[in-house]
Order: sequence, then structure tokens, then C-alpha cells
Amino acid sequence: MIKKNQFDFRAIEEKWRKFWEKEKIYKFNHKSKKKIYSVDTPPPTVSGKMHIGSAGSYSQQDFIIRFKRMRGFNVFYPFGTDDNGLPTERLVEKRKNIKSKEMSREEFIKLCTDFLKKELPGFIQDWKNIGISCDWDIYYSTIDEHSRRISQWSFLDLYKKGRMERRDAPAMYCPECKTGVAQVEVEDKEIPSEFVDVILKVDGKDLVISTTRPELFPASVAVFYNPNDKRYKHLKGKKAKIPLFDIEVPILEDERADPEKGTGIAYCATFGDQTDMEWQKAYNLPIKEAIGRDGRMTSLAGKYTGMQIKEARKEIINDLKKQGFLVKQKKIMHLVNVHERCGTEIEFVKSKQWFLRYLDLKKKMLEWGGELNWYPKFMKHRYDNWVKGLQWDWLISNQRHFGVSFPVWYCKKCGEVILAKEKDLPVDPVKDKPPVKNCPKCGGKEFIPETDVLNTWFTSSMSPQLAIKLMNKSLQKKLFPMNLRPQAHDIISFWLFNTLVKSRLHFGKNPWKDVVISGFVTLKGEKMSKSKGNIIQPQEVMEKYGADALRFWAASSKLGKDFDYQEKEVIAGKKFITKLLNASRFVFMNLKDWDGKKPEKLELLDGLFLERLNKVVKNCTTSFEKYEYSKAKQEIELFFWNDFCDYYLEIIKKRIYQGKGDKRKSAQHTLYQSLLAILKMMAPFTPFTTEEIYQNYFRKYEKDKSIHVSSWPKYEKLREDKEKVWEKLIEVISKVRQAKTKAKKPMNADCILTIDKIHYKDLKNVLEDLGNVTNAKEIKKGKFGVKFL
Ligand SMILES: [Zn+2]
Ligand SMILES: [Zn+2]
Repeated sequence: MIKKNQFDFRAIEEKWRKFWEKEKIYKFNHKSKKKIYSVDTPPPTVSGKMHIGSAGSYSQQDFIIRFKRMRGFNVFYPFGTDDNGLPTERLVEKRKNIKSKEMSREEFIKLCTDFLKKELPGFIQDWKNIGISCDWDIYYSTIDEHSRRISQWSFLDLYKKGRMERRDAPAMYCPECKTGVAQVEVEDKEIPSEFVDVILKVDGKDLVISTTRPELFPASVAVFYNPNDKRYKHLKGKKAKIPLFDIEVPILEDERADPEKGTGIAYCATFGDQTDMEWQKAYNLPIKEAIGRDGRMTSLAGKYTGMQIKEARKEIINDLKKQGFLVKQKKIMHLVNVHERCGTEIEFVKSKQWFLRYLDLKKKMLEWGGELNWYPKFMKHRYDNWVKGLQWDWLISNQRHFGVSFPVWYCKKCGEVILAKEKDLPVDPVKDKPPVKNCPKCGGKEFIPETDVLNTWFTSSMSPQLAIKLMNKSLQKKLFPMNLRPQAHDIISFWLFNTLVKSRLHFGKNPWKDVVISGFVTLKGEKMSKSKGNIIQPQEVMEKYGADALRFWAASSKLGKDFDYQEKEVIAGKKFITKLLNASRFVFMNLKDWDGKKPEKLELLDGLFLERLNKVVKNCTTSFEKYEYSKAKQEIELFFWNDFCDYYLEIIKKRIYQGKGDKRKSAQHTLYQSLLAILKMMAPFTPFTTEEIYQNYFRKYEKDKSIHVSSWPKYEKLREDKEKVWEKLIEVISKVRQAKTKAKKPMNADCILTIDKIHYKDLKNVLEDLGNVTNAKEIKKGKFGVKFL
């Protein structure tokens, strides 16, 4: 029994968390004949502690999954951690204050593996603390052997399907992380920069150009003006001399030169930006690399060789000024492409990179996305927009240390690609030998291992297989396609898109039926970030208010909507939980002598109340079926505070204290049924508190080991007529209460009540209960009024 003021949520949470784990309450049942509901759980990126956004979105998916479990599904809800690749590398570099590129690959991998071993249990604990109901035994890490095998298999399969290409071409490159990056990893950012006007010489005369990137001068190959720009027509066919570097480039006409931008003259360096690369191809201009893979100036840069990009820019501007080539300097803000992981400006660098060729499938991709059930619907636009804006095949090779290796070697003599055998996976080509003695093409005996690693999304996009393949063969078939992919909207273009595309390419079908997309968590409408200093730590919130209260807040936002962290909503959750515990205590006190049997005759009023409950169950169930958990929560919350606490408990108090026989039993039966239903419907939202109450009283009658594996309340056909009478009763009681307040009388003041004829007719069979709750000694027909005695 719960004693008053004995509500220690920390103790309660810990007790049930341990109970759930020990009793394997959330275990996927391998042998069950029940229908399966399978979830492609997002594996959180191991990059520190759980943040408030994850606390919100994982809670939201957990509401849905707990509902499904109570609806009788055999729920497959695995858990994984995404701990391969760049995010983890950067975390390890930061924590250990090292640079991976400055140590050997083996040394660094060991550092990462040791780090993960130590950090992971604590990292995962946050998810357990917030009450996520995964089957923790179905666990994968995206760097473990199992995941490496599947990821490498994916590469081999796509290679055999003709989708993998190794290209030696300019590709997007992050000079900070020193790796090729994919289009999806690039984002726009406004950064402060400098626009400089620089003098070029044409036949000894000045030609002024404006640029933000004078450090690319050593790679200049041409200058362009627009064919409609009369100012420069006379320059056609002439040559311009680039200052500081002994370079002469042709002056050419092209539509892509914008007369409005700067002076209307654009200079082209081979890998400056997209347009530069288009020009290079269109006019067959020479290829010059000013920036190397180490992010430094190449030997083309003369005295600036070896400098970092920004440093070189500064020096070159200084020298232009000194030698009189600089006309104007203007500070500006401009939009550039940056690497989303580190915020560094993206460069185009010519290098050998592996691509997954898929640009030819854009039309198909739109169709595949259209086959999914999107919750909420509008999220599909984000997917469509991403597909329509695709310009690059997927660059999947990263020049990093810690990740899944390519299962690939090259013949030293002829460059032939040698693939690993499927049965040998996973392989590490640096340590393992290729499966052939001689090159099948040239007979060569020496091989070079691929030292790049697969991009982290290449592995996490296999998440359905990473989880399912932990099961036996016959289960694997039943689990795929999965029922649900829950995730946040910021990774639609990363994770959702890539998983979908890979599933189609590998298996010819979509990986899931439904996708449920959650929003971002903001603070006062703003995105939280370290630099703004507006970060809320979920761990601190849980420490102060408890996990259930935090989940209560997460349930207040509609699916897919960005939502604010609101402490008042967490406090509301805390209040709700306390009230639920107190109301339960009252109920159990009055059920002590109850024999658990249904009364022969149910009091009419109790019937009315149960009908109101029936409607709430129906509405909640319907909302949950559409993944609208916030609507469901709101409905139960209102019902609990209003109908249950404010009215029903008050109405039956007298009957339960003083009543006898069936009249009392009827109230006891109704209390039992309604409180149990409220608990069950709240169980997905506040799993700890509801378990506490269930175990304290209901379990001995209900027999289910945990409320979370008990069945969801059932509803019957609605009886609108009955529900209307309940509404009327509430209306009258509320009016009496108002009258008492107005007359400054206590709520238990005796009175004579007069109610309208129509009301009287409807309520004639519940007058005794109405009298009890309003302390009316007499109830008369007529114009509404309360007379105090
Ligand atoms: Zn970077
Ligand atoms: Zn060869």
C-alpha cells in the first residue's frame, strides 16, 4: 500500500527498472504465435550524453510501442548504438586531446574500442533511465563484428549489382576532418568573409575582378564575363594576367557569369565551386589543384605552399595590397557549404573515392517514398525535396581510421579491384590477405589494401538487417519488412533515405510500412546549442522531477512538431503523478473489504460514469492507432482530473463510506474498473508510476506480471444517450458548486436544490447520488436555484 508522503520517485523508478530487466518484461518472444510488431529503432550516435532532443523523440516512439505491446502484439524493439566513424572519432579526439591522423591506425582504433567499452554502458543507461522499453538483449553496435559483416556484405552486393564505382575526380572534401564528404553531410552556413577587388592585367591595362577566394589564384584557368555584358565585349579572345603568380589565362564568354556580381568578371579555378567544375568540363580547361588532401596549399602556390587555407588567404591579400593590386576590401557575410560535423568550409579536391551510383534512380526514389505511410503526412515533402535536389551520387569512402573497412584490395600492378569472399566477412584488408594469390587480370602477386573506411551512414542504413539478423532464419523472414521506423526529422535525408534506397537495391522492397517522424526540441522557440548556452540536460530534469514527469512533457507535443522544453509541463506531469498516487490510495482504502465480485445490480450513476470511460477508451485507442499519442494523453488527463477526481470520487464518497450491500459494491466495482483503465491508458506515458500502483494492488487480481504486458482496455459500442446524462449531471453539480462559492458557503453546506424540468427528467434516476454530492436535502423541479438551509 502506498502511504501518503511516501512518494520517492527515484526509488520507484529504480525498483521497476530493475524488475523489468530481471523479469525480461520487454523481451521479444521467439516462440509466440502472436502478431509481430517490429521497430527499426534509431541507434543513437555515441557522441556524449543523451540530449533533450533524444529524450523527447525516444519517449514519443516508446509511447507508441508500449501501446502496441498492450494491444497484444509480440513487439520486436531492438536497441543499437551508432559508434563507428567520424562522430565517435571526434568525441575520442576531444576527450583524449589527440588527433587521430597523428597516430597509427591500429593505435587509434584501440583507443576508440577501449573508450567505447568504458563509455557505452553509461551512455545506454540514459535510455534505460527514461524508461525506453527495448529488448536490451537484441543489441548491436555499428562497429561490432556482426555489423561489420553486414555492412561489408552490403558493399559486395551493391558492387555485384553494378552500383559501386571508384572514381578519380573532384569530390567534396573537408580539410578539417581530412575526408571526402557526401552531399548530405554538407550544409549551408553564413560566415563572415572578405570581398576583395583585385587588378588583373590585360595588355597592360587594368581589369578588376571581385572575389572571396584569392588563395585559389594559383589554380586559375580562365576568367569569364556574361555575353550580354557590353562592358567586356572588347576583351574576347584576349588573355588576363593573374597577379603574384606568373599565370596568363584566357578571357571567355559564358551565361553563367553574373553581370550583377562584383564587377561582372568571374575567375575560374578548377575546383573553386560547382560552376568552376562545370566550366572546366565545358571548355576543357586544365586541371589545377591548389589545395591538397591535407587541407594545405600545394606546390602550385609557390611561396604559399604548405600554408593552411585561411593563412594563405591572409598572406595573399597582404601581398596584393603591398604590390598595389588590391583596389578594395569589403567585409561581407556569405553563404558557404560547410561540413555538418565540424562547420568547416567544404573544398573540392580531386581524389579517388567510392561512390554508390544512384542519381539515375531519382524518379524511382520518389515512388518508393510514396509507398510509405508517413506520420505526419507533410514530412514526405522533406523526403521529396531532398531527392529532387540530389546532385551527387553517394560518396561513401572516408579517409578516416575508425570505421568499417572496405572489403577491397587492389592489384599493385594493374589496379584491378579484388573483393573479399562473402564467407570471410568481416575482413580488414590491412591485416587480412586477399582471397586470391594472383591478380585475375594480370597475374600480379602484390596487392594494396583499401585503407579508407565506409561512411557511418553506409552501415547505419542497414539497421533493419543489423537487428533482424540477430534472430534465427525463420524469424528473419517474419520480421522484414518492419512495421515502424521512428526517427527525428533532421535525418530524413541521411538515415531514412539511405535505408530506403539500400533496401530497394538489395531486396527490392521497402524496409518498413510506417514512418513516424518526431520534431526538434527547442528552448523559447530557439534551437538549443552549446554556443548559445541554452542547453537543457535531460539527466538533470529527471533528477529533479523524475522520468515519468519528463515523459509527460514529451507527450504534450504533437507528432512531428518542433516543441519547446517547458518546465511547467514537466511540473504538470509531476502533479499528475502525485494525484494519481493519492487517488489510488483512496480507492484501495475503500476496496479493502471488497470481494472482487461484480454487484448483482450496477447503480445507474456508475453505469453512466463507465459509459463516459468507454468513450475515453475508444477515443484514446483511435488516436493511438493513428500514432497521435498527444491526443490520447490529453483525453486521459482530462478524464482523470475532471470526471474521475473532481466528480465521480466526490459523487460516490457518501455511498462508499455509508452505503451498504450492492449500492456500495457497485461503487467499488466501478472504482476498480475505472482506475485500472486509467492506469493502463497512462502506462505508455508514465510507465514507472503506473507500474507501482498496479503492483501494489491490481496485480494480485489481474495476474499479469506487469501492467506493461497486460491488455489494453477494451471498449464497447458507444451509448451516446447515457453519456449525455453524465454530461448533464456534471453540469448541474458544477452549477451548484458555483452557487456555493458565490454565497461563500462551504462545499458541504446543506441546501435545497431546484433543477430545470428537462434536467430533472433526465436525472430522475440518479437523484440520490446528486443529493449526496451536493448535500441537497431535497431536489425540486422548477427554475434552477440553490437555497441554503
Ligand atoms: Zn569536417
Ligand atoms: Zn593486376
